[in-house]
Amino acid sequence: MNGERVARLEAALKASPRVRAMPRSAAGLPIPVIVARDREDQPIFTVNHSEAVAMVAASGSCGICGQRMEEEDVWLVGGPRAAFDPRGAFLDPPMHRECATFALRVCVYLATPSYREAKPGAIAAAKRKALEMGFATREAEGSPKPDHFVLMRIDGMVGLRRDHEPPLFIPNRMPREWELWRDGEPFRFVRDRSPSKPTWVKAAQVAGVEALAQDGLTINDTSLMHRASWAGKLCGVWPWTIGFITEGTANGPVSA
Ligand SMILES: [Zn+2]
Repeated sequence: MNGERVARLEAALKASPRVRAMPRSAAGLPIPVIVARDREDQPIFTVNHSEAVAMVAASGSCGICGQRMEEEDVWLVGGPRAAFDPRGAFLDPPMHRECATFALRVCVYLATPSYREAKPGAIAAAKRKALEMGFATREAEGSPKPDHFVLMRIDGMVGLRRDHEPPLFIPNRMPREWELWRDGEPFRFVRDRSPSKPTWVKAAQVAGVEALAQDGLTINDTSLMHRASWAGKLCGVWPWTIGFITEGTANGPVSA
């Protein structure tokens, strides 16, 4: 790690007691509970362990630190497509705000402006990740990394599981509140009680409907689950993802 990254990591750790308590890799990076490990038990940071993902989500635990979440502190991180397209889905399970913010500040994929110059293998992994996180294929083709990421607090979601595929998470839209992040820094805030919220919610809804229209679809062409998500009706008793449902309609999430 270069000096700048070390400084960034140290500053982020200072702000994140939950992350400070996590086990570290040989290079000193905290190891999220969902990260896969190789035969020598070394973490593979770009790969999620599907069973771990399903387990933490179903138990209402954070996908990074593994500690329990309160219902009011459940956040997802993904690209704009995952967040606001009615068909969007997330690959990473929910997290504490504190832990998600740490990842946005420190994770190489989420936080590094020069990621395009990274190793070809890493770019291929990022591209897969982008697809998995719910970006349209054509966006991910020419660009391994989206322009920005969305950190959003949700009040309901479902877990979706197909055979031999990573679990996906479909949240209630719109989120309770959200932030947009680029290159490891937030640049827009849509707070739950802020006066500007209705304007941004409306804009996000219009963009979502337009994304469907580009593919010649309306919300009624999506699955029942996606319509429920779009109507903000996925909730129930916390943790919301008590079980994973298997979906077999032709209009599944774009990420799948
Ligand atoms: Zn956490």
